[in-house]
Amino acid sequence: MATGKINVSVENIFPLIKKFLYSDHEIFLRELVSNATDATLKLKHLTNIGETAVEYGNPIIEVKVDKEAKKIYITDQGLGMTGEEVEKYINQVAFSGAEEFLEKYKESAKDSGIIGHFGLGFYSAFMVAEKVEIITKSYKDEPAVHWICDGSPEFTLEPSDKTTRGTEIVLHIAEDSLDFLEDSKIRELLKKYNKFMPVPIKFGTHKENLPVPPDAPVDYQPEEVEVDTFINNPNPAWTKQPADLTDEDYKTFYHELYPTQFEDPLFNIHLNVDYPFNLTGILYFPKLSADLQVQKDKIQLYQNQVFVTDNVEGIVPEFLTMLRGVIDSPDIPLNVSRSYLQADGAVKKISNYITRKVADKLKSLFNENREDFEQKWNDIKIVLEYGMLSEPKFYEKAGSFVLYPTVDGKFYTLEELKENLKDTQTDKDGKLVVLYASNKDAQHSYIVSAQEKGYQVLLLDSPIVSHLIQKLEADNENVTFVRVDGDHVEKLINKDELQISKLSEDEKEKLKTALEEIVPKQNYSVQLEALDSNAAPFIITQPEFMRRMKEMSASGGG
Ligand code: ADP
Ligand code: MG
Repeated sequence: MATGKINVSVENIFPLIKKFLYSDHEIFLRELVSNATDATLKLKHLTNIGETAVEYGNPIIEVKVDKEAKKIYITDQGLGMTGEEVEKYINQVAFSGAEEFLEKYKESAKDSGIIGHFGLGFYSAFMVAEKVEIITKSYKDEPAVHWICDGSPEFTLEPSDKTTRGTEIVLHIAEDSLDFLEDSKIRELLKKYNKFMPVPIKFGTHKENLPVPPDAPVDYQPEEVEVDTFINNPNPAWTKQPADLTDEDYKTFYHELYPTQFEDPLFNIHLNVDYPFNLTGILYFPKLSADLQVQKDKIQLYQNQVFVTDNVEGIVPEFLTMLRGVIDSPDIPLNVSRSYLQADGAVKKISNYITRKVADKLKSLFNENREDFEQKWNDIKIVLEYGMLSEPKFYEKAGSFVLYPTVDGKFYTLEELKENLKDTQTDKDGKLVVLYASNKDAQHSYIVSAQEKGYQVLLLDSPIVSHLIQKLEADNENVTFVRVDGDHVEKLINKDELQISKLSEDEKEKLKTALEEIVPKQNYSVQLEALDSNAAPFIITQPEFMRRMKEMSASGGG
């Protein structure tokens, strides 16, 4: 048996770890399972390249809880460590890693965000354990060793009689962390962080019926057996090539990601790039609920199949945070603050790449099957319109697939719309006048009236539409948008003769006076001349600019 003392400068590391990372205690399990995974994949690599003659087999990782003894075990069948390697990697490397991490953490402790997600590694075990043991046998032909450390810088290292290859970590759970001894808690954490890790992770067992033999009698009682329970899917869809996946596979994976989501996604976008940064993933356009209550924080960020966070702010452009799915990239710096993340060049590139991919996919969907695209328009328009307003790069591309639907179900791109209106809907200055309704029911009579004059009326009913119109007008000098109940409608050149009211002058005057008593004069104007027998007996309009001002201030400006 040997004892030793870990580098003195880290004497205070354990209380610091506990204090600074209090809210993140649960990451210990992710870190230890990640190490077990790394050790397994390293062995796989060594056997692949013929570096070692050992049999790789079908290694698994096992997590076990012994509630009575207050212990948690994490066992792998990976490459293991020799005594020398324990000295080097655990006592020196891991410690200095933890120390470095804490330095960084202290600097920006106030900037709570993504920080604390990664970087502490092995020593995060001491956030929940008062004593940690490592029992490990290397794939190299060397005796197994047993390392014990109670959180002070002293440790012991002694021979072990372990005969199988791999590493077992034993955590003696501290009194203030006993809730981690609940099976349900551990299962929840494994499901959260390790659901898609590349090596099978066993946690407990469950009963299953053996298949019924084909010649079984009617009253056959299937035989029940105890089988291992595996937490993870080691080969999630995003790690595969798009060519190897069917539409059905993408849908299945969507439901695996969101087990409580019943609706199928509208379509998916497979991300796959390895230069100048590494990123894979699948984004889904979900069917948005009718009330347009957009749920954010649905995209999950992974690093090499390890879950990191579901807050991708700063990495994914904001308008795309309404999507769902997975992004996996080892190139996103994680133990840094959000403000740093937003300024980081690599991260900006990633965000631009995602924007471009989404725009390209939308364009190809539009080109391949326009009818289908039109049918989905209502569910995707919010995201796209928001994207046009917030991302110049997206706006540039959006012209080729963003649609402007009419109240009677036709869809135009902006260019098609211009072409369509140029002979019929211009004002005296030759400007195209795009009529639109924002509410089909409330503006029904105005719509009918305009249609009877042969005008096209768009239906633009998303909450940000006034901002979008503002932008389109700014970029298309020759186009003006007028709501169908707005005061500009009568300035259209191509309008029919005004309908002449059948009322007498006296009756008209009375009606007008009566109406003006009900509607506030400063906001609206009452018109009796533009009557239309089939639509409404009179028209009340509101100046376009007044309405827009109100709408823009209601939706927060910008
Ligand atoms: P990192 O994983 O980032 O290298 P850690 O602190 O998590 O940092 O681990 C330190 C080192 O300890 C690892 O690089 C590895 O060499 C070794 N190690 C930890 N866990 C295991 C394990 N289960 N099997 C083999 N080696 C391990
Ligand atoms: Mg690690």
